[in-house]
Amino acid sequence: MSYTDEVYERVVAQNPNEPEFHQAVKEVLDSLKVVIDRNEEKYRSVSLLERLVEPERVISFRVPWVDDNGNVQVNKGYRVQFNSAIGPYKGGLRFHPTVNQGILKFLGFEQIFKNSLTGLPIGGGKGGSNFDPKGKSDREVMAFCQSFMTELCKYIGADTDVPAGDIGVGGREIGFLFGQYKRVRDLYEGVLTGKGLTWGGSLIRTQATGYGVVYILDEIAKAHGDSLSGKTAVVTGSGNVAIYAVEKITQLGATVVAMCDSNGYIYDPKGINLDVIKDIKEVRRARIKEYADLVEGSEYHEGTGIWNIKCDVYLPCATQNELDLDGVKTLVANGCKYIAEGANMPTTAEGTEYAQKNGVYFMPGKAANAGGVATSALEMSQNSMRMSWTAEEVDEKLHNIMIDIFNKVDDAAKRYGMPDNYVVGANIAGFEKVVDAMMSQGIC
Ligand code: NDP
Repeated sequence: MSYTDEVYERVVAQNPNEPEFHQAVKEVLDSLKVVIDRNEEKYRSVSLLERLVEPERVISFRVPWVDDNGNVQVNKGYRVQFNSAIGPYKGGLRFHPTVNQGILKFLGFEQIFKNSLTGLPIGGGKGGSNFDPKGKSDREVMAFCQSFMTELCKYIGADTDVPAGDIGVGGREIGFLFGQYKRVRDLYEGVLTGKGLTWGGSLIRTQATGYGVVYILDEIAKAHGDSLSGKTAVVTGSGNVAIYAVEKITQLGATVVAMCDSNGYIYDPKGINLDVIKDIKEVRRARIKEYADLVEGSEYHEGTGIWNIKCDVYLPCATQNELDLDGVKTLVANGCKYIAEGANMPTTAEGTEYAQKNGVYFMPGKAANAGGVATSALEMSQNSMRMSWTAEEVDEKLHNIMIDIFNKVDDAAKRYGMPDNYVVGANIAGFEKVVDAMMSQGIC
Protein backbone atom coordinates (compact mmCIF):
# COMPACT_ATOMS: atom_id res chain seq x y z
CA MET A 1 0.00 0.00 0.00
CA SER A 2 1.31 3.49 -0.78
CA TYR A 3 2.42 5.76 2.06
CA THR A 4 -0.41 8.22 1.35
CA ASP A 5 -3.07 5.46 1.39
CA GLU A 6 -1.63 4.05 4.60
CA VAL A 7 -1.82 7.43 6.32
CA TYR A 8 -5.33 8.06 5.03
CA GLU A 9 -6.49 4.74 6.48
CA ARG A 10 -4.88 5.63 9.77
CA VAL A 11 -6.71 8.97 9.81
CA VAL A 12 -10.07 7.28 9.21
CA ALA A 13 -9.41 4.69 11.91
CA GLN A 14 -8.14 7.15 14.50
CA ASN A 15 -10.66 9.94 13.86
CA PRO A 16 -14.04 8.20 13.67
CA ASN A 17 -17.19 10.18 12.84
CA GLU A 18 -15.27 13.04 11.25
CA PRO A 19 -16.24 12.67 7.55
CA GLU A 20 -15.33 16.23 6.55
CA PHE A 21 -11.85 15.79 8.03
CA HIS A 22 -11.42 12.49 6.16
CA GLN A 23 -12.57 14.17 2.93
CA ALA A 24 -10.10 17.06 3.29
CA VAL A 25 -7.19 14.73 4.14
CA LYS A 26 -8.01 12.45 1.21
CA GLU A 27 -8.09 15.29 -1.28
CA VAL A 28 -4.74 16.60 -0.10
CA LEU A 29 -3.02 13.20 0.14
CA ASP A 30 -4.30 12.11 -3.27
CA SER A 31 -2.88 15.29 -4.78
CA LEU A 32 0.42 14.85 -2.98
CA LYS A 33 0.93 11.28 -4.11
CA VAL A 34 3.18 12.31 -6.99
CA VAL A 35 5.40 14.29 -4.64
CA ILE A 36 5.40 11.75 -1.82
CA ASP A 37 6.16 8.79 -4.07
CA ARG A 38 9.34 10.51 -5.27
CA ASN A 39 10.54 11.07 -1.68
CA GLU A 40 8.87 8.21 0.13
CA GLU A 41 11.84 6.94 2.09
CA LYS A 42 12.86 10.37 3.28
CA TYR A 43 9.35 11.27 4.46
CA ARG A 44 8.60 7.87 5.98
CA SER A 45 11.79 7.93 8.02
CA VAL A 46 10.53 10.99 9.91
CA SER A 47 6.79 10.07 9.87
CA LEU A 48 6.17 13.30 8.03
CA LEU A 49 2.61 12.55 6.92
CA GLU A 50 1.58 11.10 10.27
CA ARG A 51 2.67 14.37 11.86
CA LEU A 52 1.08 16.51 9.15
CA VAL A 53 -2.40 15.02 9.70
CA GLU A 54 -2.27 15.21 13.50
CA PRO A 55 -3.10 18.62 15.03
CA GLU A 56 -0.37 19.95 17.31
CA ARG A 57 -3.09 20.68 19.86
CA VAL A 58 -6.89 20.56 20.14
CA ILE A 59 -8.44 22.59 22.92
CA SER A 60 -12.06 22.02 23.84
CA PHE A 61 -13.92 23.86 26.54
CA ARG A 62 -17.26 24.72 28.13
CA VAL A 63 -18.91 28.07 27.32
CA PRO A 64 -21.61 28.94 29.86
CA TRP A 65 -23.60 32.17 29.41
CA VAL A 66 -26.92 33.67 30.51
CA ASP A 67 -29.67 34.37 27.97
CA ASP A 68 -32.16 37.26 28.04
CA ASN A 69 -34.64 35.18 30.06
CA GLY A 70 -32.11 34.57 32.79
CA ASN A 71 -31.53 30.96 31.78
CA VAL A 72 -28.03 29.50 31.77
CA GLN A 73 -27.01 28.16 28.36
CA VAL A 74 -23.99 25.95 27.75
CA ASN A 75 -22.17 25.65 24.42
CA LYS A 76 -19.05 23.82 23.29
CA GLY A 77 -15.95 25.86 22.40
CA TYR A 78 -12.88 24.70 20.47
CA ARG A 79 -9.56 25.78 19.07
CA VAL A 80 -7.61 23.46 16.79
CA GLN A 81 -3.95 24.51 16.62
CA PHE A 82 -2.99 22.39 13.66
CA ASN A 83 0.45 23.33 12.38
CA SER A 84 2.88 26.07 13.37
CA ALA A 85 5.81 25.13 11.11
CA ILE A 86 5.80 28.40 9.17
CA GLY A 87 4.29 30.82 11.70
CA PRO A 88 1.79 31.39 14.51
CA TYR A 89 -1.50 29.52 14.11
CA LYS A 90 -3.93 31.59 12.04
CA GLY A 91 -7.51 30.79 11.08
CA GLY A 92 -11.05 31.87 11.75
CA LEU A 93 -13.61 31.19 14.44
CA ARG A 94 -16.93 29.76 13.29
CA PHE A 95 -20.12 30.10 15.33
CA HIS A 96 -22.75 27.80 13.86
CA PRO A 97 -24.91 24.97 15.26
CA THR A 98 -23.18 22.45 12.97
CA VAL A 99 -19.72 23.12 14.42
CA ASN A 100 -17.96 20.10 15.89
CA GLN A 101 -14.39 18.95 16.31
CA GLY A 102 -14.31 17.11 12.96
CA ILE A 103 -15.43 20.16 10.99
CA LEU A 104 -12.85 22.34 12.73
CA LYS A 105 -10.13 19.77 12.05
CA PHE A 106 -11.03 19.78 8.36
CA LEU A 107 -10.95 23.57 8.30
CA GLY A 108 -7.70 23.75 10.30
CA PHE A 109 -6.03 21.20 8.02
CA GLU A 110 -7.05 23.13 4.89
CA GLN A 111 -5.83 26.30 6.52
CA ILE A 112 -2.24 24.99 6.71
CA PHE A 113 -1.91 24.84 2.93
CA LYS A 114 -3.96 27.96 2.28
CA ASN A 115 -1.80 30.01 4.63
CA SER A 116 1.33 28.61 3.07
CA LEU A 117 0.11 29.61 -0.41
CA THR A 118 -0.20 33.25 0.66
CA GLY A 119 3.59 33.36 1.02
CA LEU A 120 3.18 34.96 4.46
CA PRO A 121 4.50 33.52 7.75
CA ILE A 122 1.31 32.00 9.19
CA GLY A 123 0.57 28.49 10.43
CA GLY A 124 -2.79 26.72 10.34
CA GLY A 125 -5.56 26.76 12.95
CA LYS A 126 -9.33 27.03 13.30
CA GLY A 127 -11.84 27.30 16.10
CA GLY A 128 -15.39 28.04 17.01
CA SER A 129 -18.50 26.94 18.78
CA ASN A 130 -21.86 25.31 18.17
CA PHE A 131 -23.42 28.61 19.35
CA ASP A 132 -25.87 30.10 16.83
CA PRO A 133 -25.79 33.93 16.78
CA LYS A 134 -28.89 33.97 14.57
CA GLY A 135 -31.92 35.29 16.42
CA LYS A 136 -29.89 36.26 19.51
CA SER A 137 -29.91 39.78 20.93
CA ASP A 138 -26.71 41.83 20.90
CA ARG A 139 -26.48 41.37 24.66
CA GLU A 140 -26.73 37.60 24.32
CA VAL A 141 -24.03 37.55 21.63
CA MET A 142 -21.82 39.69 23.87
CA ALA A 143 -22.38 37.43 26.88
CA PHE A 144 -21.48 34.41 24.79
CA CYS A 145 -18.38 36.03 23.25
CA GLN A 146 -17.11 37.18 26.66
CA SER A 147 -17.46 33.71 28.12
CA PHE A 148 -15.86 32.11 25.05
CA MET A 149 -12.86 34.46 25.21
CA THR A 150 -12.45 34.11 28.98
CA GLU A 151 -11.32 30.56 28.27
CA LEU A 152 -9.77 30.97 24.81
CA CYS A 153 -7.49 33.84 25.90
CA LYS A 154 -5.31 31.37 27.80
CA TYR A 155 -4.19 29.78 24.55
CA ILE A 156 -3.83 32.61 22.03
CA GLY A 157 -1.66 35.70 21.55
CA ALA A 158 -0.24 37.96 18.85
CA ASP A 159 2.79 35.67 18.39
CA THR A 160 1.10 32.37 19.24
CA ASP A 161 -2.31 32.08 17.65
CA VAL A 162 -4.33 34.82 15.97
CA PRO A 163 -7.99 33.93 15.27
CA ALA A 164 -10.27 35.80 12.85
CA GLY A 165 -13.90 35.64 11.74
CA ASP A 166 -15.68 32.96 9.73
CA ILE A 167 -19.33 31.91 9.42
CA GLY A 168 -21.31 33.64 12.16
CA VAL A 169 -18.34 35.69 13.34
CA GLY A 170 -18.21 39.19 11.85
CA GLY A 171 -17.20 42.63 13.09
CA ARG A 172 -19.65 42.61 15.99
CA GLU A 173 -18.38 39.32 17.41
CA ILE A 174 -14.69 40.18 16.85
CA GLY A 175 -15.32 43.41 18.81
CA PHE A 176 -16.80 41.61 21.80
CA LEU A 177 -14.03 38.99 21.71
CA PHE A 178 -11.26 41.59 21.49
CA GLY A 179 -12.73 43.63 24.34
CA GLN A 180 -12.74 40.62 26.61
CA TYR A 181 -9.21 39.52 25.62
CA LYS A 182 -7.87 42.99 26.45
CA ARG A 183 -9.70 43.04 29.75
CA VAL A 184 -8.56 39.63 30.94
CA ARG A 185 -4.99 39.61 29.56
CA ASP A 186 -4.39 43.35 29.97
CA LEU A 187 -2.74 43.44 26.55
CA TYR A 188 -3.57 45.65 23.58
CA GLU A 189 -2.15 43.55 20.78
CA GLY A 190 -3.06 42.14 17.40
CA VAL A 191 -4.52 38.95 18.80
CA LEU A 192 -7.52 38.90 16.50
CA THR A 193 -7.94 40.09 12.92
CA GLY A 194 -11.03 41.53 11.31
CA LYS A 195 -11.00 44.29 13.92
CA GLY A 196 -12.81 47.60 13.53
CA LEU A 197 -10.94 50.35 11.69
CA THR A 198 -10.70 52.60 14.76
CA TRP A 199 -9.04 49.89 16.89
CA GLY A 200 -6.44 48.15 14.76
CA GLY A 201 -8.37 46.72 11.85
CA SER A 202 -7.12 46.83 8.28
CA LEU A 203 -8.86 48.56 5.43
CA ILE A 204 -10.06 46.05 2.79
CA ARG A 205 -10.13 43.11 5.25
CA THR A 206 -13.94 43.00 4.98
CA GLN A 207 -13.77 42.84 1.20
CA ALA A 208 -10.62 40.72 0.95
CA THR A 209 -11.91 37.18 0.61
CA GLY A 210 -14.54 38.02 -2.00
CA TYR A 211 -12.23 40.34 -3.94
CA GLY A 212 -9.47 37.75 -3.82
CA VAL A 213 -11.72 35.07 -5.32
CA VAL A 214 -12.37 37.32 -8.27
CA TYR A 215 -8.74 38.42 -8.64
CA ILE A 216 -7.61 34.80 -8.98
CA LEU A 217 -10.53 33.99 -11.28
CA ASP A 218 -9.47 36.87 -13.48
CA GLU A 219 -5.98 35.34 -13.70
CA ILE A 220 -7.42 31.98 -14.75
CA ALA A 221 -9.48 33.66 -17.46
CA LYS A 222 -6.50 35.69 -18.70
CA ALA A 223 -4.27 32.60 -18.75
CA HIS A 224 -6.75 31.06 -21.18
CA GLY A 225 -7.13 34.13 -23.36
CA ASP A 226 -10.52 34.95 -21.86
CA SER A 227 -11.98 37.75 -19.74
CA LEU A 228 -14.67 38.08 -17.08
CA SER A 229 -16.29 40.97 -18.91
CA GLY A 230 -19.69 40.01 -20.29
CA LYS A 231 -19.88 36.74 -18.34
CA THR A 232 -22.96 35.61 -16.43
CA ALA A 233 -22.22 34.55 -12.87
CA VAL A 234 -23.99 32.82 -9.98
CA VAL A 235 -22.63 33.43 -6.48
CA THR A 236 -23.95 31.31 -3.62
CA GLY A 237 -24.44 32.57 -0.08
CA SER A 238 -25.06 36.20 0.76
CA GLY A 239 -22.59 36.63 3.59
CA ASN A 240 -19.24 38.34 3.75
CA VAL A 241 -17.48 36.36 1.03
CA ALA A 242 -20.41 36.30 -1.38
CA ILE A 243 -21.21 40.01 -1.14
CA TYR A 244 -17.69 41.16 -1.98
CA ALA A 245 -17.21 38.56 -4.70
CA VAL A 246 -20.34 39.98 -6.32
CA GLU A 247 -19.06 43.53 -5.89
CA LYS A 248 -15.70 42.82 -7.57
CA ILE A 249 -16.91 40.58 -10.39
CA THR A 250 -19.55 43.17 -11.24
CA GLN A 251 -16.83 45.85 -11.37
CA LEU A 252 -14.97 43.64 -13.85
CA GLY A 253 -17.97 43.58 -16.16
CA ALA A 254 -19.76 40.32 -15.31
CA THR A 255 -23.45 40.11 -14.42
CA VAL A 256 -24.41 38.19 -11.28
CA VAL A 257 -27.91 36.80 -11.68
CA ALA A 258 -28.41 34.68 -8.54
CA MET A 259 -27.47 34.50 -4.84
CA CYS A 260 -28.86 32.54 -1.88
CA ASP A 261 -29.04 32.02 1.85
CA SER A 262 -29.76 28.82 3.71
CA ASN A 263 -33.50 29.14 3.06
CA GLY A 264 -33.59 29.71 -0.69
CA TYR A 265 -32.24 31.62 -3.68
CA ILE A 266 -33.07 34.69 -5.70
CA TYR A 267 -32.85 35.07 -9.46
CA ASP A 268 -32.58 38.50 -11.02
CA PRO A 269 -31.93 38.34 -14.77
CA LYS A 270 -31.05 42.06 -14.90
CA GLY A 271 -28.21 41.58 -12.44
CA ILE A 272 -28.32 41.55 -8.65
CA ASN A 273 -28.67 44.97 -7.02
CA LEU A 274 -25.98 44.67 -4.36
CA ASP A 275 -27.15 47.70 -2.38
CA VAL A 276 -30.40 45.87 -1.70
CA ILE A 277 -28.54 42.72 -0.65
CA LYS A 278 -26.22 44.69 1.64
CA ASP A 279 -29.19 46.37 3.29
CA ILE A 280 -30.96 43.03 3.83
CA LYS A 281 -27.91 41.11 5.01
CA GLU A 282 -25.45 43.59 6.53
CA VAL A 283 -27.84 46.12 8.02
CA ARG A 284 -31.08 44.33 8.85
CA ARG A 285 -29.72 40.75 9.13
CA ALA A 286 -32.88 39.55 7.37
CA ARG A 287 -33.67 36.77 4.88
CA ILE A 288 -32.78 36.95 1.17
CA LYS A 289 -36.43 36.23 0.30
CA GLU A 290 -37.12 39.94 0.85
CA TYR A 291 -35.14 40.79 -2.28
CA ALA A 292 -37.94 39.50 -4.50
CA ASP A 293 -40.43 41.82 -2.76
CA LEU A 294 -38.13 44.81 -3.20
CA VAL A 295 -36.78 44.35 -6.75
CA GLU A 296 -39.15 44.11 -9.66
CA GLY A 297 -38.55 41.30 -12.12
CA SER A 298 -36.68 39.13 -9.61
CA GLU A 299 -37.83 35.76 -8.28
CA TYR A 300 -37.40 33.88 -5.01
CA HIS A 301 -37.17 30.09 -4.92
CA GLU A 302 -37.45 28.31 -1.59
CA GLY A 303 -34.85 25.59 -0.94
CA THR A 304 -31.77 24.51 -2.86
CA GLY A 305 -31.22 24.32 -6.61
CA ILE A 306 -29.41 27.58 -7.37
CA TRP A 307 -27.07 25.60 -9.67
CA ASN A 308 -29.96 25.18 -12.10
CA ILE A 309 -29.49 28.80 -13.17
CA LYS A 310 -27.48 28.96 -16.38
CA CYS A 311 -24.12 30.68 -15.97
CA ASP A 312 -20.53 30.87 -17.24
CA VAL A 313 -19.04 31.36 -13.78
CA TYR A 314 -20.15 29.70 -10.54
CA LEU A 315 -18.72 30.92 -7.24
CA PRO A 316 -19.81 28.77 -4.28
CA CYS A 317 -19.40 31.09 -1.28
CA ALA A 318 -21.71 29.59 1.36
CA THR A 319 -20.54 26.44 3.15
CA GLN A 320 -18.92 23.00 2.88
CA ASN A 321 -20.38 20.41 0.50
CA GLU A 322 -23.10 22.75 -0.77
CA LEU A 323 -22.42 21.69 -4.39
CA ASP A 324 -22.69 17.99 -5.17
CA LEU A 325 -22.19 15.85 -8.26
CA ASP A 326 -25.71 16.43 -9.61
CA GLY A 327 -25.28 20.18 -9.17
CA VAL A 328 -21.99 20.13 -11.06
CA LYS A 329 -23.48 17.99 -13.83
CA THR A 330 -26.23 20.57 -14.29
CA LEU A 331 -23.73 23.43 -14.34
CA VAL A 332 -21.61 21.65 -16.97
CA ALA A 333 -24.64 20.80 -19.09
CA ASN A 334 -25.58 24.49 -19.02
CA GLY A 335 -22.15 25.56 -20.25
CA CYS A 336 -20.45 26.70 -17.02
CA LYS A 337 -16.70 27.18 -17.62
CA TYR A 338 -15.34 28.43 -14.31
CA ILE A 339 -15.80 27.42 -10.67
CA ALA A 340 -13.79 29.23 -7.99
CA GLU A 341 -14.54 28.24 -4.41
CA GLY A 342 -15.11 31.20 -2.12
CA ALA A 343 -16.22 28.88 0.69
CA ASN A 344 -14.06 26.13 2.19
CA MET A 345 -14.61 22.79 0.40
CA PRO A 346 -18.07 23.74 -0.92
CA THR A 347 -17.85 21.13 -3.71
CA THR A 348 -17.98 17.41 -2.94
CA ALA A 349 -15.06 15.25 -4.07
CA GLU A 350 -17.19 13.67 -6.83
CA GLY A 351 -18.39 17.08 -7.99
CA THR A 352 -14.84 18.41 -8.15
CA GLU A 353 -13.65 15.46 -10.18
CA TYR A 354 -16.55 15.75 -12.62
CA ALA A 355 -15.94 19.47 -13.13
CA GLN A 356 -12.25 18.93 -13.82
CA LYS A 357 -12.89 16.09 -16.26
CA ASN A 358 -15.49 18.09 -18.15
CA GLY A 359 -13.57 21.19 -19.11
CA VAL A 360 -14.35 23.44 -16.16
CA TYR A 361 -11.47 25.52 -14.78
CA PHE A 362 -11.81 24.68 -11.11
CA MET A 363 -9.93 26.66 -8.44
CA PRO A 364 -10.21 25.10 -4.95
CA GLY A 365 -11.00 27.16 -1.87
CA LYS A 366 -7.58 26.89 -0.30
CA ALA A 367 -6.21 29.00 -3.16
CA ALA A 368 -9.30 30.95 -4.25
CA ASN A 369 -10.34 32.22 -0.82
CA ALA A 370 -6.83 32.77 0.56
CA GLY A 371 -7.17 36.54 0.12
CA GLY A 372 -9.02 36.74 3.44
CA VAL A 373 -6.31 35.22 5.55
CA ALA A 374 -3.62 37.00 3.52
CA THR A 375 -5.18 40.34 4.39
CA SER A 376 -5.50 39.20 8.00
CA ALA A 377 -1.75 38.65 7.93
CA LEU A 378 -1.38 42.16 6.51
CA GLU A 379 -3.47 43.36 9.46
CA MET A 380 -1.04 41.56 11.81
CA SER A 381 1.89 43.31 10.13
CA GLN A 382 0.25 46.72 10.49
CA ASN A 383 -0.49 46.00 14.18
CA SER A 384 3.11 44.97 14.81
CA MET A 385 4.41 48.10 13.11
CA ARG A 386 1.78 50.22 14.91
CA MET A 387 0.76 51.85 11.65
CA SER A 388 -1.87 51.43 8.95
CA TRP A 389 -1.84 51.34 5.18
CA THR A 390 -4.36 53.01 2.89
CA ALA A 391 -7.13 51.03 1.20
CA GLU A 392 -5.29 51.31 -2.13
CA GLU A 393 -2.07 49.96 -0.60
CA VAL A 394 -3.81 46.97 0.98
CA ASP A 395 -5.86 46.25 -2.14
CA GLU A 396 -2.74 46.32 -4.29
CA LYS A 397 -0.93 43.94 -1.94
CA LEU A 398 -3.97 41.64 -1.94
CA HIS A 399 -4.18 41.71 -5.73
CA ASN A 400 -0.47 40.88 -6.05
CA ILE A 401 -0.78 38.04 -3.52
CA MET A 402 -3.64 36.51 -5.52
CA ILE A 403 -1.66 36.78 -8.76
CA ASP A 404 1.29 35.16 -7.00
CA ILE A 405 -0.93 32.34 -5.68
CA PHE A 406 -2.27 31.72 -9.18
CA ASN A 407 1.27 31.54 -10.56
CA LYS A 408 2.42 29.14 -7.83
CA VAL A 409 -0.59 26.86 -8.29
CA ASP A 410 -0.34 26.94 -12.07
CA ASP A 411 3.40 26.29 -11.96
CA ALA A 412 3.11 23.33 -9.55
CA ALA A 413 0.39 21.74 -11.70
CA LYS A 414 2.57 22.11 -14.80
CA ARG A 415 5.74 20.88 -13.04
CA TYR A 416 3.98 17.65 -12.16
CA GLY A 417 2.53 17.22 -15.66
CA MET A 418 -1.06 18.14 -14.82
CA PRO A 419 -1.60 21.58 -16.38
CA ASP A 420 -4.85 23.30 -15.37
CA ASN A 421 -5.35 20.88 -12.48
CA TYR A 422 -5.47 23.61 -9.85
CA VAL A 423 -6.53 21.21 -7.08
CA VAL A 424 -3.27 19.29 -7.39
CA GLY A 425 -1.33 22.51 -7.99
CA ALA A 426 -2.68 24.20 -4.85
CA ASN A 427 -2.04 21.21 -2.62
CA ILE A 428 1.49 20.69 -3.89
CA ALA A 429 2.47 24.36 -3.82
CA GLY A 430 1.05 24.76 -0.30
CA PHE A 431 2.72 21.56 0.90
CA GLU A 432 6.20 22.34 -0.42
CA LYS A 433 6.83 25.26 1.93
CA VAL A 434 5.35 23.55 4.99
CA VAL A 435 7.27 20.34 4.45
CA ASP A 436 10.52 22.20 4.02
CA ALA A 437 9.95 23.95 7.36
CA MET A 438 8.93 20.72 9.08
CA MET A 439 11.97 18.86 7.79
CA SER A 440 14.26 21.66 8.98
CA GLN A 441 12.74 21.85 12.46
CA GLY A 442 13.32 18.21 13.42
CA ILE A 443 10.84 15.85 15.01
CA CYS A 444 8.31 18.13 16.67
P1 NDP B 1 -21.24 34.36 6.49
O1 NDP B 1 -21.75 33.82 7.75
O2 NDP B 1 -21.00 35.82 6.37
O3 NDP B 1 -22.17 33.92 5.28
C1 NDP B 1 -22.47 32.60 4.99
C2 NDP B 1 -23.57 32.62 3.95
O4 NDP B 1 -23.81 31.31 3.47
C3 NDP B 1 -24.90 33.13 4.50
O5 NDP B 1 -25.57 33.83 3.48
C4 NDP B 1 -25.61 31.82 4.82
O6 NDP B 1 -27.03 31.93 4.85
C5 NDP B 1 -25.19 30.98 3.65
N1 NDP B 1 -25.33 29.55 3.92
C6 NDP B 1 -24.88 28.86 4.99
N2 NDP B 1 -25.20 27.58 4.88
C7 NDP B 1 -25.87 27.45 3.69
C8 NDP B 1 -26.44 26.37 3.02
N3 NDP B 1 -26.41 25.14 3.51
N4 NDP B 1 -27.04 26.62 1.81
C9 NDP B 1 -27.07 27.85 1.30
N5 NDP B 1 -26.54 28.92 1.90
C10 NDP B 1 -25.95 28.71 3.09
O7 NDP B 1 -19.88 33.55 6.21
P2 NDP B 1 -18.67 33.94 5.27
O8 NDP B 1 -19.17 34.62 4.05
O9 NDP B 1 -17.64 34.59 6.10
O10 NDP B 1 -18.10 32.50 4.91
C11 NDP B 1 -18.64 31.72 3.84
C12 NDP B 1 -17.65 30.60 3.51
O11 NDP B 1 -16.39 31.16 3.16
C13 NDP B 1 -17.36 29.62 4.64
O12 NDP B 1 -17.10 28.35 4.09
C14 NDP B 1 -16.07 30.17 5.24
O13 NDP B 1 -15.33 29.18 5.90
C15 NDP B 1 -15.36 30.62 3.97
N6 NDP B 1 -14.31 31.61 4.16
C16 NDP B 1 -14.58 32.82 4.74
C17 NDP B 1 -13.58 33.75 4.87
C18 NDP B 1 -13.85 35.12 5.38
O14 NDP B 1 -12.93 35.96 5.32
N7 NDP B 1 -15.04 35.42 5.86
C19 NDP B 1 -12.19 33.45 4.47
C20 NDP B 1 -12.04 32.20 3.78
C21 NDP B 1 -13.07 31.31 3.67
P3 NDP B 1 -27.81 32.12 6.25
O15 NDP B 1 -27.69 33.57 6.54
O16 NDP B 1 -29.17 31.66 5.93
O17 NDP B 1 -27.11 31.25 7.26
